[in-house]
Amino acid sequence: MIRLKQSLQYTFLAITAQTLFALPALAADFAFGETAAKETEYLSKNLAGRSIGSQKEQDAIAYLSQRLSDFGYQPTLQPFSFEYNGQTYNSFNIIVERKGTSGKQIIVGAHYDTAPSSATLDRSNLEGTNDNSSGVGVLLELAQRLENERNHSVKFILFGAEEVGLVGSGYYANNMSSQEIKNTLVMVNLDSLIVGDKMYFHAGRLAATEPEFGRYRDLALEISDELDIAAETNPGLNPNYPKGTGCCSDLESFDFQVPVLAAEATNWDIGELDGYTQTTNPRVPGGATWHDPATDNLAFINEVFPGLIEKRTREYTQVLDVFLDRVNAQSVPEPTGVMGMTLALGLGGWRMRRRQGGQGR
Ligand SMILES: [Zn+2]
Repeated sequence: MIRLKQSLQYTFLAITAQTLFALPALAADFAFGETAAKETEYLSKNLAGRSIGSQKEQDAIAYLSQRLSDFGYQPTLQPFSFEYNGQTYNSFNIIVERKGTSGKQIIVGAHYDTAPSSATLDRSNLEGTNDNSSGVGVLLELAQRLENERNHSVKFILFGAEEVGLVGSGYYANNMSSQEIKNTLVMVNLDSLIVGDKMYFHAGRLAATEPEFGRYRDLALEISDELDIAAETNPGLNPNYPKGTGCCSDLESFDFQVPVLAAEATNWDIGELDGYTQTTNPRVPGGATWHDPATDNLAFINEVFPGLIEKRTREYTQVLDVFLDRVNAQSVPEPTGVMGMTLALGLGGWRMRRRQGGQGR
C-alpha cells in the first residue's frame, strides 16, 4: 500500500514533466498496426505478471500513463479498492480524453491486468500477450492516431482488475453520471485480439431483442467488409449466448447502460460454443491459451501462429480507426423507443450490480 502510493507519486511527477514538453499529436504517418504490435510485445516482454497487487501492475500503470502522455494526452488515474480472496486491494483505471465539440462521447476500453496466480498455477510470469497486451496495444495506437479536431469526444480507458471480476470497469460504469450515460454513444471493448481462428465484433445482450443496440456491431462488420478483412459475429449456436452478442469481459459492466461493441479473436463454433475455445490448431493444448503462462506468451504464439500478432493488431487497428472516424461523422439522434427508455431508466446500473463478481476472459 505504501509502496503503491510512493510509486504513483513518481508516476504523477513523470507525467507532469512529460506534459510540459509533450508535442501535440501529429497526423499518423506510419503503417497500421506498427505501434499496436510493438506495444503488445513490450508489455509481454517487460511487464509480464501484472496481476492485482503486484509490482508489475504498478510498473504497467506508470508505463502506460507515460505512453499516453507521449501521444499528447494528460492521464488521470481513477483509484478503486476491492476485496479478493479475503484481502483488500487497490488499483487504478487510466483515463485520457480527446475532447470534441458535440457533447457526445465514445468510450474505448481495454484491461491491462493479467490473471493472478492460483493455488495450482503460478502466473507471476504470465505475459498475457493475447489477454490482454493485444487490446492495450491496439488502444494505444488508436489513441496515437486520433485526430485533434473532433465532433464527438473519445475517452480511452485502460481498466485495472478485469481478471478478478470486471472490477475496474464496474467501478467506472457504476460511477458514470446520468448525464455521461446519456451522452455516451458506444463503449468499445478490446480484449484478446490475437489467438483465435476468427476475428469477431459483437454487440451487447440487449441487441438480441432490440436490434437498435446492434447498430455499432453492424457498422464494424460493414467496415471490415469494405477493407476486405474477414470478421464475423457470434453465430448464436449456444442459447446462453444469443447471436450477435458477446460476453465475458469489461463490456458487461457497460451493457444495458450504453450500447457496446466488443472486439475479440476466438472461435465460437467449437468447444462449449461459448467463445472460450479459441482454435482448432492441435498444437494449442485444449484449444485455448487463456491465463496459461506456457501458451499466452510471445514465443509460443509466434511459433504456432507466425505473423498473427502483426496481422491481427493491424486489422483491428484499421477497422477501429475507420470506425471512430465514421461514428465521428454521424450526427446522433436522441435514442428512442426501448433504447431511450433503457438509457433513461438507468437499467444498466441495476444489471451491473446484479452481475458484479462475474469472471472475465
Ligand atoms: Zn482479458
